[in-house]
Amino acid sequence: MIDCLFCRIIAGEIPASIVHQDDDLVAFEDINPRAPMHVLIIPRRHVATLNDLTEAEDGLMGKVVRLAATLAAGRGFADSGYRLVLNCNEHAGQSVFHVHLHVLAGRALGWPPG
Ligand code: 5GP
Ligand code: ZN
Repeated sequence: MIDCLFCRIIAGEIPASIVHQDDDLVAFEDINPRAPMHVLIIPRRHVATLNDLTEAEDGLMGKVVRLAATLAAGRGFADSGYRLVLNCNEHAGQSVFHVHLHVLAGRALGWPPG
């Protein structure tokens, strides 16, 4: 998707602090971190919102979640804990329309979220 910010990061057209990439996924530091760890994990395949996921992405989204756990553990947050967030559309505050998982850790996170 030529006009998708995250597709442009995947293509290397927009710089990002990439922490992991493989055949299916890219993970990078959020530009406006809300916690000491704030990484975004995205599938290389462009899917605009959670509403657009199909059975074909079931395995892919499983990989997204497991990578989140691996990255959080790698930074020492497996025991202290972390939060995974998927925002969908307006009321959740989705601002980039390419599915992404927020991985937040490094401080006590309030609940319920705002
Ligand atoms: P959303 O609000 O859609 O769930 O999350 C989008 C996230 O993307 C936000 O946390 C925002 O800070 C992050 N973001 C927006 N533009 C950029 C960018 O150009 N680079 C990076 N690394 N993160 C971005
Ligand atoms: Zn995209």
